[in-house]
Amino acid sequence: MKRKIILGIVCGMAAINGFAADEAIFTCRVGDFTVHLLVENQGQGNPSILLGASKDALNRYIPGGTYRSEVNTVLVRGPDRTLLIDTGFGGRIFDHLKTLGVDPGQVDAVLLTHMHGDHIGGLQKGGNAMFPRASVYLAQQEKAYWTETAANHGAVAALAPYGSRVHTFLPKAIGAGEELFPGVRAIAAFGHTPGHTIYQIESNGQKLLVWGDLMHVEDIQFPLPAVSVSYDTDPQAAGIVRKQILDYAAQNRIPIAGMHLRYPAAGGVTADGAGYRFSPLN
Ligand SMILES: [Zn+2]
Repeated sequence: MKRKIILGIVCGMAAINGFAADEAIFTCRVGDFTVHLLVENQGQGNPSILLGASKDALNRYIPGGTYRSEVNTVLVRGPDRTLLIDTGFGGRIFDHLKTLGVDPGQVDAVLLTHMHGDHIGGLQKGGNAMFPRASVYLAQQEKAYWTETAANHGAVAALAPYGSRVHTFLPKAIGAGEELFPGVRAIAAFGHTPGHTIYQIESNGQKLLVWGDLMHVEDIQFPLPAVSVSYDTDPQAAGIVRKQILDYAAQNRIPIAGMHLRYPAAGGVTADGAGYRFSPLN
């Protein structure tokens, strides 16, 4: 069994809840919360999505011309409620929940970082809510953009079965956000999408920042945080907020988890020259 304490939180692959130590689920204790990172999908990414990366930088940080990419979701089990942050495509997540002994009907709330398909794909199937008791929470700007401005069919369909159980909020800047639930704070990180939101889990002085899509290609965006990706709706804003959140995590020694970081998809951030270094938890 592998177990590690970093920045005050205890994480491990197998021992904490007795599940298999393959690259599928990674678990961290954050005070009274148990946080499970669930791997939805692993694949190879194409660096052509990167904006503003020089040829030299690509050769240096992605010498093979491709990088391993991942899609993750995060389950947060607290003393009072069970929360899911994003749903992935709606594939392996349901197997992982079964492995953990969590029925989708036990999920009290789904918190969305944003409304791209790899984050909302598990909300509905055939017009039915896959989390039949859950409320859905997302930034007001995010809902308005995808369901009204862009009138995106997938986004509209994802929320439809939840009806009046869809709740919006206005996320505040990091350090100022109010709690959505005890110990769970929503923080504005706009840029990747107009309402992209990250969530900070906090209990008994321990913290974990679940940063959604603040970063897509860790090999190059930690050392060069100004590099954005072609599917950021505002690449420049995405770069600015990425630097801001990286600074916050590094200065306050808060561990982070991301939806497109590689397994175990969580770790510590330290400043390194003009960029940052990432130390994964495994
Ligand atoms: Zn994504």
